[in-house]
Amino acid sequence: MSLHGDYDPQNIFAQIIRGEAPCYKLYEDDDVLAFLDLFPQSLGHTLVIPKRAAARNILEIDPDSLARLMRVTQRLVRVLVDELQPDGVQVAQFNGAPAGQTVFHIHMHIVPRFAGLGLGNHASQKAEPAELEALQARLVKRIDG
Ligand code: AMP
Repeated sequence: MSLHGDYDPQNIFAQIIRGEAPCYKLYEDDDVLAFLDLFPQSLGHTLVIPKRAAARNILEIDPDSLARLMRVTQRLVRVLVDELQPDGVQVAQFNGAPAGQTVFHIHMHIVPRFAGLGLGNHASQKAEPAELEALQARLVKRIDG
């Protein structure tokens, strides 16, 4: 049952937190890490994850870690909206495979939405590295600025 079970410390986001796998990092503090989704469903699709909580989903994360995660999520929604000027923005979080979860370390999705543009398929089409690098540079500049 993917909604219940043990936390796997080898999941890809745990590897990213430990620096064992790469990411297009946008933001990091002691508790939270944010990076671009490798298979974006829209321009600017961003993931925000807790660094210290070994939690698969919202059932498992402690409320303080969740609050810190949401604080950074809101901050990055504002940055993405300022920089990319979308017409809407989705903030989503999935729990369990039947709900769409594919990586079992809790994460928030921030998905900017642009009028007239549909949503790409979930976790399916890899973005071009050059595009992700350019986007990372734009967003990091605004976060740091
Ligand atoms: P979920 O299906 O809610 O568990 O979302 C997992 C997300 O992680 C999907 O949107 C994937 O495209 C994304 N993803 C998977 N592997 C990586 C990776 N190595 N770096 C960045 N994003 C990833």
